[in-house]
Amino acid sequence: MDKQSNIYFVATPIGNMMDITLRALDVLSKSDIIYCEDTRNSSNLLKFHNIDKKLISYHKFNESERVKEILDNLKNGKVVSVISDAGMPIINDPGFVILKEVVENGFSFEIIPGACALINAICGSLFDAGSFCYMGFVPRTDVERKKYFEKFQKMNVTGIFYESPNRLLKTLKFLKDYFGNINVCVCRELTKLFEEYKRGKITDVISYYEEKKVKGEIVLVLDKIEEKSEEIDLNKEILELKKQGYSNKKIVIYLKEKFNISKNKAYELVLNYNEKEKEDV
Ligand code: SAM
Repeated sequence: MDKQSNIYFVATPIGNMMDITLRALDVLSKSDIIYCEDTRNSSNLLKFHNIDKKLISYHKFNESERVKEILDNLKNGKVVSVISDAGMPIINDPGFVILKEVVENGFSFEIIPGACALINAICGSLFDAGSFCYMGFVPRTDVERKKYFEKFQKMNVTGIFYESPNRLLKTLKFLKDYFGNINVCVCRELTKLFEEYKRGKITDVISYYEEKKVKGEIVLVLDKIEEKSEEIDLNKEILELKKQGYSNKKIVIYLKEKFNISKNKAYELVLNYNEKEKEDV
């Protein structure tokens, strides 16, 4: 260890057992106690790296209770490490409550870098990795998804989302209906034997996963959605159609087919256009 901290938050592999830094192994070897989510899972990792240490489980349901015990250990001069089942603790994993209390109680801490699924995904997606947003797990209900993805769209950057294999197709179909034929990359089983980056238009990616059962762990990456320019183009199109005497109903059908967007989205665009026209008069 470079310097003596009291507590270390250590990144562990997200699949390949070798994806752990020399410093992480050093820290774990010198820890008196390692707090982990699942002792069985973490003992496999430690065994693989010939580390024999006391493991104690903590998870989102007992994290707050464990805090007192961890603070006592730190007061007694013990060296403590915190790991999660995979990747970086705190990133959609427990650890935050502990870290916050540790800081509030005046102990120093170190974050030991390493694997984190979202970082592999953004790099392998081939979308702009210069500015991106990470938004954790996709919510389950349509109402929540709508708000969540609208927030993402407004940021106008690449988006990274964690998703379960069971809900991937539902989410992709929702996105297609809501945003049209956007560019996506499904990053599956990163660093593992069946690692896969499936990039392309969302309609093609949906067809691909409709034929092949979706298995394993998933990070979904979306190319930025440039609402402004797309909506300006669609508004131009609506204006042209109105000039030619098309009814609202016919414009909705035309937009839906030409731009591969949902009927609801096309309807919303026409309504917005009509509202804007009224305001401009
Ligand atoms: N702390 C972890 C990290 O640093 O990435 C994330 C933990 S979160 C509970 C688990 C989710 O991360 C999975 O459901 C999946 O979305 C993503 N994930 C973790 N490992 C992955 C892998 N090897 N391939 C693809 N996604 C992965």
